[in-house]
Amino acid sequence: MIRVGLPGALFCYSFNPFWERFFRALGATVVESGMTTAEMMDDGAREAVSEACVPVKVYHGHVRALAMESDAIFVPRYVSVDRGTVFCPKFLGLPDMIRSSMQGIPTLISPRIDMRNGLLELARACGEIARDLGMPPLKGIAAWLSAIRSGDTLACVRPADPIIRPSGAQGGRLRLAVLGYPYAIYDRFMNMDLLRKIVRLGVDVLTTEMLPSNLPPLPSYAKHLFWHYSERVARAGRYCIETRCVDGLIHVTAFGCGPDALTGKIIDMDASRHGMPFMALLLDEYSGEAGLMTRLEAFVDMMRMAGGKRIRRVAPDVG
Ligand code: SF4
Repeated sequence: MIRVGLPGALFCYSFNPFWERFFRALGATVVESGMTTAEMMDDGAREAVSEACVPVKVYHGHVRALAMESDAIFVPRYVSVDRGTVFCPKFLGLPDMIRSSMQGIPTLISPRIDMRNGLLELARACGEIARDLGMPPLKGIAAWLSAIRSGDTLACVRPADPIIRPSGAQGGRLRLAVLGYPYAIYDRFMNMDLLRKIVRLGVDVLTTEMLPSNLPPLPSYAKHLFWHYSERVARAGRYCIETRCVDGLIHVTAFGCGPDALTGKIIDMDASRHGMPFMALLLDEYSGEAGLMTRLEAFVDMMRMAGGKRIRRVAPDVG
């Protein structure tokens, strides 16, 4: 049975549940790289081009970890999964970056995922994957059908860890929105277990994935962000600020991220316009825990001092 490696970084937090079902339906053995480790981070930083952002370096580390255990590694070229946004250019060029900078890795399976013309584009990509694995394309389409029947659509986000789900306004606890791309928010190694550190300070956490999926668009004065994850994060920031469902906001960004220069600025401006405590947290491969804790404690103290002046108006539907 062919072993297909699924790297546990970047879009994995959004889309791997679908791909796991698809590859199993195809008759492959799915090999996952698991959580990011220090070794993966070091390998990725060494093997990726130096200009790459931290999440892309981490992705390289996951590919390296799978190299010995897989016959093929799935590194799709994500272009778009809806009609309104596209992925950042580093997603588009990911298979090329890996092929050009990594030696001694198995074949990469790299279909182009561009669903601007509808869901059938995904079926076409699945047929292409089957062909690349030496199977009839129709077998890929049958596996696609099986995967979408047994688990909604391509875009199914992994459920957030229950311990970080907000407890509502119980006991007047502070609630903090931690906004950023899922691969920065849920990668506990990359972000030094940020969410649990916040919870241990006695503060409830709200992430983008806990908010309603149909967040209202940005107001007309804000630029439309055509990057898939950036648009969602900016909308989440706007929603949290407008509904006052949190007492403060942290925007988690990664060193080397181009789109975040704009995303972070939009949230920052919105927060300062509405008097909401805001902090940007930059992750890089050299970040230290002591510095992170100092900043978090200071920010939470500031939220507590400012807390009496605001009232939460609406609790989000976090069902
Ligand atoms: S959006 Fe930013 S962090 Fe994500 S892959 Fe692109 S450059 Fe990297």
